[in-house]
Amino acid sequence: MADSIIIIGGGVAGVSAAEELRKCGFNGNLTILNEERELPYDRPPLSKSYASGVLDEEELLLRPPEWYEDHKVRLCHERAARLLPHHRSIELAGGGLLRYDLLLLATGARARTPAGFESSSRILTLRNLADARRFRALLHHGQRLHLVGGGVIGMECAATAALAGCQVTVLEAGERIMERFVPPVISDVLATTHRRNAVTIRERFRVGSIAGNESGVVITGSGEVIETDWVLLGMGAKAEIGLAQAAGIAIEVGGIKVDGEGRTSEPGIFATGDCAAFPGPDGGKLIRWENWTHARDHARSVARAMLGDTCSYNGICWVWSNQYDFNVQVTGQSNAETVLLRGDQHQGPLTTLHLEGNRIVGAATVNNPHDKRALHQLVRARATISREILEDSSIPLSEIVRTLQ
Ligand SMILES: Cc1cc2nc3c(=O)[nH]c(=O)nc-3n(C[C@H](O)[C@H](O)[C@H](O)COP(=O)(O)OP(=O)(O)OC[C@H]3O[C@@H](n4cnc5c(N)ncnc54)[C@H](O)[C@@H]3O)c2cc1C
Repeated sequence: MADSIIIIGGGVAGVSAAEELRKCGFNGNLTILNEERELPYDRPPLSKSYASGVLDEEELLLRPPEWYEDHKVRLCHERAARLLPHHRSIELAGGGLLRYDLLLLATGARARTPAGFESSSRILTLRNLADARRFRALLHHGQRLHLVGGGVIGMECAATAALAGCQVTVLEAGERIMERFVPPVISDVLATTHRRNAVTIRERFRVGSIAGNESGVVITGSGEVIETDWVLLGMGAKAEIGLAQAAGIAIEVGGIKVDGEGRTSEPGIFATGDCAAFPGPDGGKLIRWENWTHARDHARSVARAMLGDTCSYNGICWVWSNQYDFNVQVTGQSNAETVLLRGDQHQGPLTTLHLEGNRIVGAATVNNPHDKRALHQLVRARATISREILEDSSIPLSEIVRTLQ
């Protein structure tokens, strides 16, 4: 068995892996190497309850401070600068070398920015706590905020800023907001609510350039020049693969390529969470997911594999978003050739079922968390059930699931 395991990255994947290693009896040296100064914290509240002031920083912690000592997990606040796989060592940015027997890369992702982008104090991204502190500080009544990108983070920030009294505009290049995340009917429900909260949403807006100085920001695009106080870029994320790539580890679909147990192409090195491209449920095609539940569950599964367990990961995609009073949850494919609706899009909770041919490949809910368990089972089973039954919301999904057994 290995004497020493190092995990690079102290997000939910890194911390969950450390916890699982201890739970499964690993007694050797265990280090989490994390470049951020803070104790490991949770990211989902950064755009929601932390930004709005409902949660404070200490409420974001993934584990209480004493957990690290209690579990003999050494937390080292340093950046890993280079991997030396042949020496099973890591070069630290501040100088020094750490040796490992097994290494887990849980380096996460970073915010995507446009080509040629130059940072400015008034142009923000939102990936870490330092970014969130800046975002939270600008949320004053009357501030003009333009969000570039109407994806999940963009729309969550739009809701938070609108509720704080900012003048919010969303510039979305596509046809509708949250296009990659939910089917059109749910985009419509959310867009209507945003507009009711005085958020301006401009679809099919192509941003050309963004330039900021101490007093404001100028955006050009779609034949216009827009002046604003702040810009937040919500253009998605890119896996943090630099360390692995420089060490010659195989990269695919923008992530660190791993097998079903989390092994990279380099012996003794594993990868997990947002940074890893793993064999997905769709016939083992490599895929990368950026969501909290996957990061936690994949990390636990890879941790067990590092200790010799041979079970492959078989997680299913599950993402949520909170905007105003809406809780949206999505499982499996967020879109498909047929989308069936259960419920009324104009009022109350609703659920959508996403079908390829006759098979359920995904589902989404709005304020309908009770359906979560049943949807999970239907999607995992890729169930084939008649459309009439699925659309009949008088038949509970739990009853439909029972017919599968
Ligand atoms: C604002 C925001 C809101 C979100 N909301 C939701 C949500 O509502 N629902 C949902 O399902 N998901 C949400 N997500 C996504 C979810 O948080 C991520 O999928 C999850 O955090 C991924 O965890 P991770 O551990 O793989 O990576 P990360 O959380 O990114 O952690 C990686 C860590 O590694 C560190 N690191 C990287 N390189 C090095 C290095 N060379 N040396 C040392 N340390 C390094 C990074 O600084 C970082 O701390 C949200 C993300 C953000 C940013």
